[in-house]
Amino acid sequence: STTETHPLLAGLNPQQRAAVEHAGGPLLIVAGAGSGKTRVLTHRIAHLLGERGVHPGQILAITFTNKAAAEMKERVDALVGPRSRAMWVMTFHSACVRILRREAKRLGFPTSFSIYDQADAQRLMALVCRELDLDPKRYPPRSFSAQVSNLKNELIDYETFKARASTHMEQTLAQAYEMYQARLMQAGAMDFDDLIMLTVNLLQVFPEAAEHYRRRFRHVLVDEYQDTNHAQYELVRELTAPIDGGAAAELCVVGDADQSIYAFRGATIRNILEFERDYPDATTILLEQNYRSTQTILSAANAVIERNADRKPKRLWSEQGQGHRIVGYVADNEHDEAAFVAREVDRLTDAGDARPGDVAVFYRTNAQSRVFEEVFIRVGLPYKVVGGVRFYERKEVRDLLAYLRVLANPEDTVSLRRILNVPKRGIGDRAEAVVEAHAARERISFWRALRRPEDVPGMATRSINAVREFVALLDELGEAVETSTPADLVERILVKSGYLAELQASKDPQDETRIENLQEFESVAREYEERLDGESAEGRLVDFLEQVALVADADSIPGGAKGNPAAPGEEGPADDQGVVTLMTLHTAKGLEFPVVFLTGMEDGVFPHLRAMSNPKELEEERRLAYVGITRARQRLYVSRSWVRSSWGAPQTNPPSRFLGEVPDTLIDWERDAPSLKPSAATGPASRPGVRAPGGKPGPALAPGDRVTHDSFGLGTVVTADNASGKASVDFGGDTGVKQLIVRYAPMEKL
Ligand code: ATP
Ligand code: MG
Repeated sequence: STTETHPLLAGLNPQQRAAVEHAGGPLLIVAGAGSGKTRVLTHRIAHLLGERGVHPGQILAITFTNKAAAEMKERVDALVGPRSRAMWVMTFHSACVRILRREAKRLGFPTSFSIYDQADAQRLMALVCRELDLDPKRYPPRSFSAQVSNLKNELIDYETFKARASTHMEQTLAQAYEMYQARLMQAGAMDFDDLIMLTVNLLQVFPEAAEHYRRRFRHVLVDEYQDTNHAQYELVRELTAPIDGGAAAELCVVGDADQSIYAFRGATIRNILEFERDYPDATTILLEQNYRSTQTILSAANAVIERNADRKPKRLWSEQGQGHRIVGYVADNEHDEAAFVAREVDRLTDAGDARPGDVAVFYRTNAQSRVFEEVFIRVGLPYKVVGGVRFYERKEVRDLLAYLRVLANPEDTVSLRRILNVPKRGIGDRAEAVVEAHAARERISFWRALRRPEDVPGMATRSINAVREFVALLDELGEAVETSTPADLVERILVKSGYLAELQASKDPQDETRIENLQEFESVAREYEERLDGESAEGRLVDFLEQVALVADADSIPGGAKGNPAAPGEEGPADDQGVVTLMTLHTAKGLEFPVVFLTGMEDGVFPHLRAMSNPKELEEERRLAYVGITRARQRLYVSRSWVRSSWGAPQTNPPSRFLGEVPDTLIDWERDAPSLKPSAATGPASRPGVRAPGGKPGPALAPGDRVTHDSFGLGTVVTADNASGKASVDFGGDTGVKQLIVRYAPMEKL
């Protein structure tokens, strides 16, 4: 329309440009991987600001993960500079939290409501089930928790569900759902699914609130639209409904049905169909050119995804030429597979073809990261694990978080009960039970009951004193909330509660790792403060907790977790740019890397065992394979392992069916069979847990033996378990006792 070379439109093809310039009715962009959907969104935002006079505060852009939000913010920043700050670029959950903080009162919640993540929610459901006297074998709390989550994603509240519950099981679930909601309400807390559902309720029930946000957000953009659930779909619909006497906000959604990897059955098709039904005037734009990958990589991706029935055929093409062929490798076992990856990265680095930071290693399940970590540490290849480290699920981290939450909101009963006797302070289960009963009888909160332990019938004098001390501790810490930063609070809690001292006094080597994790958490708080950079301290604790709750669920943790106490050379890599990225396929969505390793390509691993007998789930696994392949820009590796240990026992899996779906001509097999004889590979001699062909067997050790370690120096063996190949060695001085995996430790017996 206007000039051809406007900088905001340069670097876009005609379809992309049309999508950027489109004004008015809703816009749906459905296109394959790497076709520039995300790029269109960022350029569209820049175009709105630069060319259409839109104020940044009028823009709401939704991404799927915090990581993706940060990346998009960066891209927009680069295009329009600091003006982008007033804009909301965030996940559905973050956006809802922001709205709910303002509106919580209308819904009967305190402004500083707590956010319960999945683990908290499960804990609360377990408490509810116990209170209802449900047999956990027949009515597993975890399953109840999952079902409640599904109901909320469908926007079905407990009243609606109760009214239509017919079987005894459904009625029981309805009862648990109701009590669970009541407990959340009493605690002034919302779970993750509530964040979305309650925001939708808010907009539906309070017209003034709805009007406010509809007037504010004149442009709503959603990335990865194929993975929105029904509640999120309705949220977008509410936000983009017409305002009184005016027009609806402009809506732009982008997605790829072939990359739907979080959907329940049919959800993908449903969202797109619903979109076309609810927005009959929508414009649809297709993008077909892929700018990310070589033709070889695309051909492999196309060949795999074509096997799925139920999809609109589309063919991606690339102008980048054939590029390198895919490299295949059949490993003896998972250690050998990891060693292959490490060798290849070395080779590429030496040849100047890639830096470690260009490389990503994908696997199907979180647990597979451990072996890569072990091997990478051994060979000194710097790496980071993104997502799924589950740092925030570790006990010590959760305990600390519970303290912080109680300080922010003492009515948060789940958190309060979690720390009641942590560290042990003589408030036993019995005392907890009588307080609970008293609170229920008196219809007061657990916290209020705790404040007057002398009023609680059946409390032993010893318990009364212990509770008094606990309350005094919380009061003292509570006084610091207004004046201290979160990191200082963390330190205070650890010291005053005696938590740190208990760990330090412990002989359990795991407790050393726990201390490291707590230190790491303190760094998280410090980093948060640095980002804040002297802004007002008001409401900081609440804000900090909110950020942690959102990050803890889906994304990577800052700085990486120190998960493995056996790690020699424990210093983290200095430069984040230069490290190999390890992640699950699910986490990889939306990202791209010059070099990608798809590992564990075995039936039963990927596709996942659970999915193999269900055609629908198999199709979802295949979409996951499509996502994985299309992350690669120049080089793709596929590997499988002949033997893999499962629950500590060796197991052989057939090659992944997805490998067979890639045309032979696209793959060069560097090794197409294990180096072991197949019969030997299943025998006890080759048990991967004991003797990895990739690694040396390691010396047999006994207590008292002297050893020398490359990074820790001279040491004395304290304990040795030659069956598991682990030993603890005292290196003295600052290093102290380390747990080591003997065959991987750079260590010699003297
Ligand atoms: P996915 O489905 O994986 O999320 P996508 O469709 O969002 O992919 P982008 O990530 O936006 O794709 O783009 C893929 C790559 O192609 C990026 O590196 C992007 O910068 C580049 N790209 C997109 N469009 C163009 C273009 N017109 N010219 C040059 N490069 C482009
Ligand atoms: Mg994208």
